[in-house]
Amino acid sequence: MPFPLSAKAGRAAAAAVSAVAAGVLAFGGAEAAASPFPVPPLTETAAAGTEGLDPLLALAYTMAEREAHAAGVPMWINSGYRSPAEQQAMWEDGLRTYGTPEETRRWVLPPEESTHVTGRAVDIAPRDGAAWLEANGNRWGLCRTFDNEWWHFELVTLPGTACPARVPDAAHR
Ligand SMILES: [Zn+2]
Repeated sequence: MPFPLSAKAGRAAAAAVSAVAAGVLAFGGAEAAASPFPVPPLTETAAAGTEGLDPLLALAYTMAEREAHAAGVPMWINSGYRSPAEQQAMWEDGLRTYGTPEETRRWVLPPEESTHVTGRAVDIAPRDGAAWLEANGNRWGLCRTFDNEWWHFELVTLPGTACPARVPDAAHR
């Protein structure tokens, strides 16, 4: 058993997390009101570019970006959620650029495999901001995942714990 929680407690914990995320990201809207957990009337707005992302990633990134900006570090999302059609266009573009599916996969994955399409990845700019996030992002669970993409981050660890080892590139997933 991965967690020392009953199934009921696990579901309640998941609902609480969802309620908090929804409260922050949707201004305590209908979803938050329907939750059995009280959500304070939050006024924070989600960071630009978080539309369509997994709410937990949107929340983690919003908190990280706020901290970076407070420290004077420039940071923004260059690319977050992508529709399957957008990812397909990027994949076809990649095939033209890199020639073979094997080489293309190092830089861009087809829609059915991309974590951008499932709303679970963000590409960060500029380089200074990405470097800051690489050094500090684990405080919110955010980690750089590929050696060859300094800009690509995912929510892959528990807040405050170490990031998992990176893989060389997206083809190694
Ligand atoms: Zn990416």
